[in-house]
Amino acid sequence: MISCDYHIHTQLSGCADNELSVKKIIQFQQDLGIEAIGITDHDYSYKSKVKTIQAAQQAIKEADPAIKVHFGVESQMLEYQVTSITIRLASYFDYVLMAPNHYHLRGVAQPRSFRDPRRVALHEIYMFEAAIACPMTDAVVHPFLLSPNVFQFSDEELSAFGQEMMRNIEQKRLIYQLDLASQRGLGIEISPKMVRYNQLHLVEFYKLCLERDVKLLIGSDAHNLKQLEELSLLAPILEELGVTEEHLWHPKE
Ligand SMILES: [Zn+2]
Ligand SMILES: [Zn+2]
Repeated sequence: MISCDYHIHTQLSGCADNELSVKKIIQFQQDLGIEAIGITDHDYSYKSKVKTIQAAQQAIKEADPAIKVHFGVESQMLEYQVTSITIRLASYFDYVLMAPNHYHLRGVAQPRSFRDPRRVALHEIYMFEAAIACPMTDAVVHPFLLSPNVFQFSDEELSAFGQEMMRNIEQKRLIYQLDLASQRGLGIEISPKMVRYNQLHLVEFYKLCLERDVKLLIGSDAHNLKQLEELSLLAPILEELGVTEEHLWHPKE
């Protein structure tokens, strides 16, 4: 039932498989029966060069896709009202994915402690609010998803920490933000990473998103071919949540 994937990295992102070309991705997704995708490398991959952006657009054209291929970008909030991408750079892309929690990158505001779930909760909601308020944001990616690389917990510890963090998020404050996201037509990403990292605290969060009429963006955040396939891990969760086509976010044409 999953027919789109709007968060995919290519070899241009330094953190992705260096053989992951646009052509390979398109072919692979076509074979999987995916109908629409988005190529979304990190903004810093382009080094603010228009030429690099145009070359990436050209590569999509040359791949001559039989499916719909959008050209987006992944950017991050550094703090409130400060983004890694400029408005000028953003204007070259079909859509901007905004990451509120890229703590592994330089310049991104950090929680006071990575060991105190209350501190992490306060910081996560602050960064989420910042991403929702940013005029360049089209969709917020992996909100409230804790990366094992950053937190350095075992799987079980990270899962328990995630639950505890989510309990510390003030509901009224979160609902207010979801209503803003809904009004603005922003997507909120749901990613198979929540299964890979055992982040089941997010199920309640997505229930709330759907209750508040927020559209969900399906994104694998794949950095290699295997992770493209992992999108199927989401199927049981989407089913549990009762997600249908009408709940999904798509880039504007
Ligand atoms: Zn990211
Ligand atoms: Zn990404």
